[in-house]
Amino acid sequence: MRKELEFSNGKKLEVGTIYCVGSNYSKHIKEMGNLITAEPVIFIKPGNAYIKDGESIIPPKFSENVHHEVELVAVIGKDCRNVEENEALNYVAGYAVGIDTTLRDIQQKAKNNGQPWAVAKGFYTSAPISKVIPIEEFGFENREFDIELSVNGSIKQSTNTAEMERTTAKIISYLSSVFYLEPGDCVFTGTPEGVGKIVPGDKLHAELKGFAELNVNVE
Ligand code: MG
Repeated sequence: MRKELEFSNGKKLEVGTIYCVGSNYSKHIKEMGNLITAEPVIFIKPGNAYIKDGESIIPPKFSENVHHEVELVAVIGKDCRNVEENEALNYVAGYAVGIDTTLRDIQQKAKNNGQPWAVAKGFYTSAPISKVIPIEEFGFENREFDIELSVNGSIKQSTNTAEMERTTAKIISYLSSVFYLEPGDCVFTGTPEGVGKIVPGDKLHAELKGFAELNVNVE
């Protein structure tokens, strides 16, 4: 059964496809030893990978290096295909904070072997997302957010989305030139530096500062 995103105003929307952008903050690109690519790096998580506030990340047992990646998430509100960058934010239903949970060892193995990242990035429970704040609270113009993540009370990642290499509008415009975006699709916009290992028992707390909070455990 399709899971539902919850909005802060009580609205609900079935989760569609979860699109993610890799390498979108220069300091994170450096910490991973990657290069900025001409086209964005895109990967997908199944909608069922979504979990909400208060639920648990349950990584598959064969991974020994699970990482947190805090990210701004834009939720799509209207069918969206081939939109220009200056129109792209009109298709956003709201913003949330999410954690692109990653099996780093499995991802590294896949990279080394030229294989896809589906297992490393898309495993069940890999996409915690906070309540969604409706776009009406922000307006459709570009705006920047502070996002932050702490593990067991200590801050690990903290940035402003102005640091992104590609804006949310640019990412949505690009995605819409390749895919057919639909209401309930989620766009993870990339993680800043400070990614790190999480283990069973850890408590993760992420914030879209001033708007939304997300608490999940690692099981
Ligand atoms: Mg990420």
